[in-house]
Amino acid sequence: MANILVVDDDPDIVELVSLKLRSSGHEVTAVGSGEAALDTLATRTDVDLAVVDHMMPGMTGVDLVRALRAGGSTLKVLMLTARSQERDLENGFTAGVDDYMTKPFSPRELAARVTSMLSRR
Ligand SMILES: [Mg+2]
Repeated sequence: MANILVVDDDPDIVELVSLKLRSSGHEVTAVGSGEAALDTLATRTDVDLAVVDHMMPGMTGVDLVRALRAGGSTLKVLMLTARSQERDLENGFTAGVDDYMTKPFSPRELAARVTSMLSRR
């Protein structure tokens, strides 16, 4: 079991990801923006991994990861991107993204990737 933060502006994606991760035994907190994620992570030190959407109004997922790493965070981050945003991934990895999946994605594969990432503590 791990504490996972889901950051996505699309409520359908939040629901899909949260349901799958909860059924895998994880505790899930969901927020709808990068700014809200920073607020949450400023007060929560028990979050093990974040699933972060790239394209959100305001701060993008890459902006969020850059801000986290600038603050010294080693939080594991799995990024979700649309296929058309794949070239943004180079910036994402430079910013400190650990893994990524392109949408539409398989919830089962997402849960498996999360398990794999969490096993490398
Ligand atoms: Mg989005």
